Amino acid sequence: MMRPFLEECRRVTRSCIAAISKVVKRCIISCKAMIYALHPKARERVTQDKSVDSATRVSRIRKIYRARKTFVVVVSALLCVLILIVAVSAFTGISNRHRAASTRAQSAVSTSAASQSSTPTQTEESSASATQSSSGSSSVLTQQQRDNIAAQALKTAQASGKTLHQYRYCVSGKGNVGDTQVFENAVFSILNSTQGWPRAGATFEYIAHESSSSSSADSSTQCDMTLIMAEASTMKSFSDGCSEDYSCRVNDEVIINLDRWNSATSDWLNAGGTVERYRKLVINHEVGHRLGHLDNEATCSVSGGPAPVMQQQSISLRGCSPNEWPLDSELWIS
Ligand SMILES: [Zn+2]
Repeated sequence: MMRPFLEECRRVTRSCIAAISKVVKRCIISCKAMIYALHPKARERVTQDKSVDSATRVSRIRKIYRARKTFVVVVSALLCVLILIVAVSAFTGISNRHRAASTRAQSAVSTSAASQSSTPTQTEESSASATQSSSGSSSVLTQQQRDNIAAQALKTAQASGKTLHQYRYCVSGKGNVGDTQVFENAVFSILNSTQGWPRAGATFEYIAHESSSSSSADSSTQCDMTLIMAEASTMKSFSDGCSEDYSCRVNDEVIINLDRWNSATSDWLNAGGTVERYRKLVINHEVGHRLGHLDNEATCSVSGGPAPVMQQQSISLRGCSPNEWPLDSELWIS
């Protein structure tokens, strides 16, 4: 029973091999004929070959022309296919980029609307609109929400067992940054978060500028610090030590670079951070300076652990993971 089956297998294998080698041989012969036919002097050689009669010569010359024609057709077809592939992949690439851009825009808008910290979102129209357009009414905290956040912050500060510090802060803008109301809402939520500086005993009260009368000057003198949303090009006007690439703190001025607010930094994003988290980081870090902290006082205790908020995470994570809140070891105010 087994033997005939094996015999049959061998026979099929042999005929397969024979068929394949036949095809290969034919291919080789065709290639050789094609190469011969494509030679510029092929026709001349056939014409001068006196060993065959004229009918054979004519037949060979016809074969040469046929081979050349086939070659031209095949090459043209291949070129057409190649052009088609390039065109399709270019078109697919463009439509993917469009899709990705619109998805980003949509997610940015929904993030802004859903965000508890009510942070503004960059739009493509202009940098000024970053603090305006996507900040619909849902991005602005109600008085009730502000009261709740402030109450939680105070509770956290009291529970910390540390000396209580209440900071009054003002908010302003410099350059083409639009309305700063949404920025202020974000600042209020971030600074008074139960994950933030309240754990070191700090709470933050917003002192609003009055737009009329003499109280504008008065309110600024009441501020322990002013958080300024600044257009990148204005950063140097605060201090030579400030960079157009980053945010900065100069005495009681905490200056947030609009470009960084809108798009974070590539190091931060590459390490897995998001723009929304970066906004918390930059507020906590720069205000951390105002509370007495220095850059890079510490690094993460274990490789891959959360980076201290005072580490310059905008520049490098140094092997730590992105972190926007002060670590336990950073919970002090000088
Ligand atoms: Zn710093």
